[in-house]
Amino acid sequence: MVSRETSASSPGFVVRTAAEVADSEPTFQSESTPLARAAEHSILARRSAFGRPSVGRPAQTRVMVVANQKGGVGKTTSTVNLAAALVQLGQRVLVIDLDPQGNASTALSVEHHRGVPSTYDMLVEGSPLAEVASQSPEFENLSVVPATIDLAGAEIELVSVVARESRLQKAIDAHPLVGTEAEAGEERFDYVLIDCPPSLGLLTLNALVAGAEMLIPIQAEYYALEGLGQLLETVDMVKKHLNNRLDVTTILITMYDARTRLAAGVADEVREHFGDTVLKTSIPRSVRVSEAPSYGQTVMTYDPGSPGALSYLEAAREMATKGAKA
Ligand code: ADP
Ligand code: MG
Repeated sequence: MVSRETSASSPGFVVRTAAEVADSEPTFQSESTPLARAAEHSILARRSAFGRPSVGRPAQTRVMVVANQKGGVGKTTSTVNLAAALVQLGQRVLVIDLDPQGNASTALSVEHHRGVPSTYDMLVEGSPLAEVASQSPEFENLSVVPATIDLAGAEIELVSVVARESRLQKAIDAHPLVGTEAEAGEERFDYVLIDCPPSLGLLTLNALVAGAEMLIPIQAEYYALEGLGQLLETVDMVKKHLNNRLDVTTILITMYDARTRLAAGVADEVREHFGDTVLKTSIPRSVRVSEAPSYGQTVMTYDPGSPGALSYLEAAREMATKGAKA
């Protein structure tokens, strides 16, 4: 069957029933029947359609590092969509694009050609964070620090810079809107999400030193767990020597395809290893999610009723209600 979702060539509004959505994208929980999925979607869609209540704000800014040295696992997609979802849930969010490819900047429709104030200026030149952040054109409460191609050189340029691994931490901590309500007031950021490049170099290291929480997206595919050992070793090393506040607090299973046994197997294995750290909500593989960036949008605005958008909204809600670390 060719679903309307996969054949859509324009971003026009398509009304689909929950059953159609479920039928075209059987991507929720592995064991659910089409009827169960339809019911699930219908509940999710109904709740979101009536503007679900926002979630409480954390007591202080939560700095979350979205990292996994594997490329293509959904780091950028998860960063931008969780950011947009958190904003929709009433939070104030800052996204820092730490990948020279600038994909998060593209998805959030923020200019990132050479010359635009960017992550590079902050890390290498020491520009204050407030001077390189700009507001997203889509969401009032979303700010973005874009990444330009200059950042590709930063990995090498930073080597000879003083305190090279704590540049990002200093920049974030110095921002007047980062901290507790007493420190940073009502306008404070609730979340700072850092989108890391697919490597464990100095850029990612800066993020791991800057954040207290790490969010690891894991693609529900064969080899998903490969490389995870190395990532966790790096986290331990950083925790021991550079940032003892760091914890892996959140694991998100992405590109989940319930039609395959493999995806279910990988998800089970991840849950076995990491227990409650893994969000209950997995993100289904969905064409809408992958199309959104080419329209300079997140799926949260591109197709708010789609399974991908509803899942990111649920995942964001879980993150927010799981609560801030003390
Ligand atoms: P990373 O930042 O880890 O390299 P991306 O977020 O860029 O990974 O995702 C890699 C590719 O997979 C992109 O083309 C993206 O559009 C696609 N993708 C990510 N999540 C999904 C999803 N849930 N469904 C379909 N495609 C996805
Ligand atoms: Mg990326």
